[in-house]
Amino acid sequence: MMEKKKILLIGTGGTIASEMGESGLTPELTSEQLLRYIPDISGICQVECDQLFNLDSTNIQPKHWARIAAAIRARYREFDGFVVAHGTDTMAYTAAGLSYLVQGSPKPIVLTGAQKPIGFETTDSKQNLRDAFTVAASDMAGVMLVFNGKIILGTRARKTHSKSFEAFSSINYPVLGLVRDGRLIPYIRPEARAVPQFYDTINSRVALMKLIPGADCGVAAYLLERNDALIIESFGVGGLPTYKAGDYYDTVKAGLDAGKTVVMTTQVENEGSDLAVYHVGSSIKRDLPILEAYDMTTEAVVAKLMWILGQTTDRNWVQELFYTPVAADILAEK
Ligand code: ASP
Repeated sequence: MMEKKKILLIGTGGTIASEMGESGLTPELTSEQLLRYIPDISGICQVECDQLFNLDSTNIQPKHWARIAAAIRARYREFDGFVVAHGTDTMAYTAAGLSYLVQGSPKPIVLTGAQKPIGFETTDSKQNLRDAFTVAASDMAGVMLVFNGKIILGTRARKTHSKSFEAFSSINYPVLGLVRDGRLIPYIRPEARAVPQFYDTINSRVALMKLIPGADCGVAAYLLERNDALIIESFGVGGLPTYKAGDYYDTVKAGLDAGKTVVMTTQVENEGSDLAVYHVGSSIKRDLPILEAYDMTTEAVVAKLMWILGQTTDRNWVQELFYTPVAADILAEK
């Protein structure tokens, strides 16, 4: 009989591990306690547990992504796959963060969580955990998010429903596969290397600004002053307001002149940016060394900039790394 695969379950908190207290749901359960709810998992794989912290993912910061990556690195050889139990609210950011901190993993690294705690009578926790173990014990590769039977690439995930079990969508990229009745149905196996490349430095001085009609560019100036990079989520295929002469243009130019990175993206969920289409976009793209997100998710842009700026602040190098695909995070022609 073939020996069962060895999977490391890394606990980080979230609803899945929460219990009801006086002020609402709070993460309390450890990964060992989670495992006790799904004793049948021993039929799929052998599991060991590692509890890193127990946080609502609202409190998860980039330094926590680095801790998860370090925990995977420390035990990479020992295990065939990894399941990270995580809160859903910022899971897409952590999935993107891990996609840059652990690149090209030939072993599956699977994030999952739940909309309802594992101890509740109606819960998606057990199914999501079982599905995550099924994927972690398979021949899939790289960083993925498994939720409600869908397997989503780590750089392409977004939380699109705040309450339903169908909480996540794959943005501008097909789902990698499904898990149905415990069976894996793979469509795409992410590209992998023979050995993964781990990174441990991250620069969290990255800010995000969402434009609204009439928005004062003082906000952009403020954010540029305090950060190394600013992502501007503009409208449609992208552009900067020009109703006050020189306003946004001068602010962005001053930030760029001070050595900051500026990325233009869109607040439209699907299909990405294309600054070349309209004057409000093409004029800044032509005149200023800004970057453009194209089909990347904002979550991936945030995490990629934090990873890049942890390595370098050299403008050419930043640009080169930004447009070089990592885990199929960017597909559009430049
Ligand atoms: N607030 C929770 C968290 O992100 C929500 C969840 O896990 O579903 O930790």
